[in-house]
Amino acid sequence: MTGKPFEPAANVSLQSRNTLRLPAEAAWYARAGDVTELRRALDWADRQDLPVLLLGGGSNLVLAGDFPGLVLRVSLGGRCWSGVDNGSAILEVGAGENWHETVMYSVRSGYRGLENLALIPGTVGAAPIQNIGAYGVELSHALVDVSVWDREQGAERVLTCEECAFGYRDSLFKRQPERYVVLKVRLRLSKRAPLRLGYRDLEEFFDGQAIDALTAEDVAQAVIQVRSRKLPDPDFLPNAGSFFKNPVVSLAQFESLQQRFPDIVAYVGQDSAKLAAGWLIDQCGWKGHRDAHVGVHNRQALVLVHHGDGQGGELLGLASRIRDDVQARYSVALEVEPRIFPVSMREEFRF
Ligand code: FAD
Ligand code: NAP
Repeated sequence: MTGKPFEPAANVSLQSRNTLRLPAEAAWYARAGDVTELRRALDWADRQDLPVLLLGGGSNLVLAGDFPGLVLRVSLGGRCWSGVDNGSAILEVGAGENWHETVMYSVRSGYRGLENLALIPGTVGAAPIQNIGAYGVELSHALVDVSVWDREQGAERVLTCEECAFGYRDSLFKRQPERYVVLKVRLRLSKRAPLRLGYRDLEEFFDGQAIDALTAEDVAQAVIQVRSRKLPDPDFLPNAGSFFKNPVVSLAQFESLQQRFPDIVAYVGQDSAKLAAGWLIDQCGWKGHRDAHVGVHNRQALVLVHHGDGQGGELLGLASRIRDDVQARYSVALEVEPRIFPVSMREEFRF
């Protein structure tokens, strides 16, 4: 590849670049605004055998120490429509675009499909990593395909929704974390798809209103209001959203838990049951708990917060005590949702 030499910045603070506002430094830091810049940066890191951390909005990361390699902010932009046909269309969006702004752009254009996913922080490129979901909708419901740079094959590829192997907060990208860089996604949206209002908070919000008259933008605005009432805004109280995934257990395990704990909150499917991790944590007495600099949010026990001047190790220490309590009381293993760096801290706290 020709062009200007790659010159990343050295020793860059990541504190303002992660929503937990944890103090951490990148040994090297750069932005990639297109595929050429991305490849140049990855080649540079590979030549020096340095690890690479792909960064979006930093809202699903726990930076528990300095990163010894290259932190690469993926900033590929652009949004365009294609395949407009009989009320449906495909929206193509660059990985560096803001997710919430993309949702609002789609609903204001009259299209349905993304409205329940309003106000999720971060970038479009990170959305497929954990198959973002909220209020009964997951990214995979709208996703057509994902364009990636495959670091193993050294080539650009298009992965279909099926190839992405999406699951509950899970995907191929989570299982092979360093392999793919998301470049853009294509989403199929529709002007006539049914609105999904089945979640209790949304049902309550629209109680008594004429559902038929609602637009996707009305639903997005409702989601914004409901979320703003309940979930802490990282700009005011730093957090990374849900710290643990809701555990999915077998029906047999759920029935045995229900016998011992009749009030347990769970959503029962055909082959498994999803337990509300926030309820388990709350029952262990952690809701609203505060250590010196870190704590558990007082309205949603699933969200751990950083009150300032703390370190990632303190947060992971608190998280591991919560995990151990839930395991001891309910024999249920809690899995951390955000990605923890550096790996040594993940190992130290057994996450
Ligand atoms: P980052 O935190 O920067 O990165 C997350 C992971 O993706 C990292 O492993 C990173 O290396 C990787 N990554 C980032 N960009 C790329 C790329 N282009 N290619 C390959 N890998 C990449 N999540 C939900 O699912 N539902 C919610 O309702 C929700 N609500 C939230 C509310 C709050 C207040 C907060 C703070 C978080 C919430 N989250 C939620 C979690 C988070 O916002 C999402 O997971 C989001 O998609 C992360 O985007 P990001 O750009 O900040 O990713
Ligand atoms: P909530 O409505 O209080 O519900 C608590 C939990 O119960 C949620 O985790 C949700 O699972 C589950 N649940 C509720 N109603 C359900 C239903 N009808 N069917 C199946 N499961 C149901 O949750 P909240 O804290 O206010 O969050 C609202 C939504 O935003 C949720 O979907 C949540 O996942 C999402 N959110 C995610 C993050 C994150 O970082 N991942 C952060 C904030 C909010 P699900 O989580 O599977 O939906």
